Amino acid sequence: MKTRAWAKLNLTLDVLGKREDGYHDLCMVMQSVTLHDTLTLEPNEGQGLRVKTNLRFLPTGDKNLAAIAALRFWEALGREPEHLDIEIEKRIPVCAGMAGGSSDAAAVLRALNEQAGFPFTPTELAKVGEKVGSDVPYCVLGGTALAEGRGEVLTPLPALPPCWVVACKPDFPISTPELFARIDSCKIRCRPDTAGMLEALKAGSLEEVARRMYNVFEDVLPERYQARVAEIKHVLIQKGALGANMSGTGPTAFGLFDSEEAAREAQAALQEGYRDTFLCRSV
Ligand code: ATP
Repeated sequence: MKTRAWAKLNLTLDVLGKREDGYHDLCMVMQSVTLHDTLTLEPNEGQGLRVKTNLRFLPTGDKNLAAIAALRFWEALGREPEHLDIEIEKRIPVCAGMAGGSSDAAAVLRALNEQAGFPFTPTELAKVGEKVGSDVPYCVLGGTALAEGRGEVLTPLPALPPCWVVACKPDFPISTPELFARIDSCKIRCRPDTAGMLEALKAGSLEEVARRMYNVFEDVLPERYQARVAEIKHVLIQKGALGANMSGTGPTAFGLFDSEEAAREAQAALQEGYRDTFLCRSV
């Protein structure tokens, strides 16, 4: 069985505060896009659960989020683990703020649920995903959604108006724990207008959505990285994006376009400096 794992982007990201359990309360408007990994699931002859990817540095076996998802699925069903090979062809950049690993995990949950004859509703399946990671419930449901709590409290939203998306991942490493520590130690000066974003989605206005995109993590990036993300956003806007934003804890920045031609030009311009530049659509 072959299945797709869609990347996610943050139209907004706000950190409301640190909780007693160590997690942060977040408020995010999420969007899935057509950039995807492809997963192949095939039963094997008594070899247990095996995971292979086309990227050597990614964990194989039961450290991979795809394997953890399969184990949590069988556990939730009250079944013994099966003998299964999962092969992942990665296209979503790793550690990019695009939830690549969570999305693979969600794709496994959806595929196993289908193979088992849909024992779980989508909401129940998202709940199983919670045990794998905070972004997994959203990735199970996909589309346009408000994610609150640590990301697992989901409210479906009106779909993002049709548009082209150019996403560009510069090749510097971002440490998610370091960014959360930076957020904790400073006063957040500017926050996204989440209510305004919800209104814009309800009104179906791409311009208003694009104008309201904002991510609090951009303000706390180390300066040298902040400049690079700003530069990518600048190119996107110059080439005609209606708005640009950083996704998750970065470093991917993306722009929304109402013109395919402009989006292709932006992609071509950014690809000169950044190999990981993608043209995609919302899904
Ligand atoms: P998020 O947007 O949720 O913060 P991310 O884009 O920053 O995610 P991922 O690409 O999901 O980060 O990878 C995060 C970590 O998960 C990496 O250290 C990677 O080794 C590990 N990992 C485990 N399984 C996978 C997988 N199937 N795909 C990608 N990374 C995986």
